[in-house]
Amino acid sequence: MKKILLFCLISCSAYSQSEYPQDYFRSPLDITLVLSGTFSELRSSHFHSGLDIKTQQKQGLKVYATADGYVSRIKVSHYGYGKALYVTHPNGYTTVYAHLQKFSDRIEKYIKECQYEKESYEVEVFPSTQELLVSKGEVIAYSGNTGGSGGPHLHFEIRDNQERPINPMLFGIDIQDSKRPFVSGVYAYPKDDAAVINGKNERVPLRLIPQRNGDYDVEKIIAYGHIGFGVTSYDKQDLAPNNNGVYNIQTFFNGNKSLEIDFKRFSFDETKHIKRLIDYEYFKTKRSRIQKLFIEKNNPLSLYKDAYDDGYVKVEDSTSSVYKIRIRDFKGNETWVNIPIEGKYETVKSDTEDGENKTLIYANQPTELKSGLVTVNFYKNTVYEDVSIDFRVSSDTLFLHEDHIPLQKNFYINYDLNHYKSEHLDKVFIARLYGYYKKPSYVNTKRKGNILSASSNTFGTYTLAMDTVAPTIKPVNFKDKKWLSKYRYLKVKIDDDLSGISKYRATVNGQWILMEYDYKTNMLVHDFNDNIVKDTKNDLKIIVTDNVGNSSTFEATFFRK
Ligand SMILES: [Zn+2]
Repeated sequence: MKKILLFCLISCSAYSQSEYPQDYFRSPLDITLVLSGTFSELRSSHFHSGLDIKTQQKQGLKVYATADGYVSRIKVSHYGYGKALYVTHPNGYTTVYAHLQKFSDRIEKYIKECQYEKESYEVEVFPSTQELLVSKGEVIAYSGNTGGSGGPHLHFEIRDNQERPINPMLFGIDIQDSKRPFVSGVYAYPKDDAAVINGKNERVPLRLIPQRNGDYDVEKIIAYGHIGFGVTSYDKQDLAPNNNGVYNIQTFFNGNKSLEIDFKRFSFDETKHIKRLIDYEYFKTKRSRIQKLFIEKNNPLSLYKDAYDDGYVKVEDSTSSVYKIRIRDFKGNETWVNIPIEGKYETVKSDTEDGENKTLIYANQPTELKSGLVTVNFYKNTVYEDVSIDFRVSSDTLFLHEDHIPLQKNFYINYDLNHYKSEHLDKVFIARLYGYYKKPSYVNTKRKGNILSASSNTFGTYTLAMDTVAPTIKPVNFKDKKWLSKYRYLKVKIDDDLSGISKYRATVNGQWILMEYDYKTNMLVHDFNDNIVKDTKNDLKIIVTDNVGNSSTFEATFFRK
C-alpha cells in the first residue's frame, strides 16, 4: 500500500514538472543555436509554428535527426517550406526540418526516384515505417533557403501526434537569453459606444515612460466604462539583434488576473485567426502588430487562459485603479507595464462613420453583392462580425473596401464576360491591384465559358487584366552547340511579367529531366549528377507556360562526354 502511494507521488510530481520529455531531442544543428524567429511569434497570416535557427548566413550546414525514428513525409514545393523532411519518433512526436538545400544521399536518392517517376520537382511522399529509418545524430539533410524563406536558416518544428506544433524549447532545446522583452507601444480600446478613454471613443495610443529597471509606466488615463488594452512587444535573445516573439502575456486589474495569453502550442486550424488577435487595421496601415489583450466575438484561439470578462476591465466613476501587463520570454525574463486609470463619468458622441453609401456584410448569414459585370458572394461566417464596407464597380474594376477588416474565410468573385469586348478574352484574368502603384497581381482565376471566378480572403481592389506575352527563357551558364562535359549544373532563367509562371517542363533527347525551380531567383537548375544525360549529343527542350496559357519553348543542343 505504502509502495503504491509513493510511486504515485513520484510519478505525479514528475508529470507536473514537465509534460514534455526532456533531453529526448538533441539539437538539429551542431552550432550554438541563435534564433531569427521564435515559436508562435506573429507572422502575416499565421503563428510561427517552429524555431527559425540562423545558419551563419550560409547554406549547407549538416542537419541531424534529433532522435531515432523514421522519415514519415518528404515534401518538395516551390513555395512554403521548400524542401522539407518529417521524422516521426517512437514517442509519438514528429520533428520537421524545412527550407533545406538538399537531403542526405540516401533520402535524396529516394526522393529523386519519386520526382523522376512523377516527372515533377514538386512532390509529397509518405514513406512507410520501415523504408527510411534514421537514428539520433544521423545527418539527414543540409540547411538551405528553399521555398518561402527570406535568407538561409533552418525552420525546426516539433509536432504532437495530433499534428499540433509545440514550442521546441519545452523539450529542452536551449537558447541563450538573459534579456527582458521590451514594449514599443500600448493602446487602450473602448469595448462599446458607452466607453470613454481620454475623452475619446476609439483606439487611443498611450504614452510609455520607460523605467530604469526595464519596466514601463504609462501616463495616467482618464476613462469610463468597459475598456481593453493592446500591446506591441518583442523579445531579443543574447546572440542576435532579431526582434522575436514573446512567450507569455498576463494582465491584472487591481491585482486580479484579467487574461493570460500562452504561446505553448496551437493547431493549424486556428492559426489563421491571428487576424483576430492583432489589431488588423493597425497592422495593415502601420505594419506593426498590436496584440489585443481582450477577446472579441468569434475568436476561437486556444492561446487564451484565465480570461475574466474576456480580458476587458470595467472602469467606474470616481475610482482609481491600475492595470498591469506582465510580458515574459521563455527564460522567465519579464517586463511589466503599469497603467494608472482614473475613473470619471463622461459621455462622448461615438465617431460612427456615415452609414450612407456603405454596404452591410452579415457575419451569420450569406451576402451577395452585384453590380455591372461583377457578383461577389460572402458565405456565412466570412466576416467575424457584421461590417459596413465600401462596394463599387466601375467598368471592370471592383472596389471592395480596403484591406483593413479581417476575414475568416474566402469570398468569391465572379465576372460575367458575356458582353465584354476583348480580342483576347482567353488571356483575361482577375487581378488584385496592390500598393501605391496599383500593380496588378494575378489571382488564381477559374474560367467557365465566359464566366471568370476567383476567391480571396482580403478586401481590396480587383480588376480584369490581360496577359498576351509568353514567358521568357534564357540560358545562364551555357550556349547552343557547346561542350558541357565539365559542367555540374545546367542553369536557365525563366520569367513572366504579368500573370506569372504556372508550369515548366524540360527534356533532353525527349526524356524528362529534373530542374529545380527557385521563384526568388527565377532559376531552373538541372544537376548532371542525376546521371540522366548520358549521350554525347543532347537536344534540350524547355517549355514554360504562364497562368493564362501563353507558352514559350527554348531549344538548344549541347555535347558531353
Ligand atoms: Zn520558420
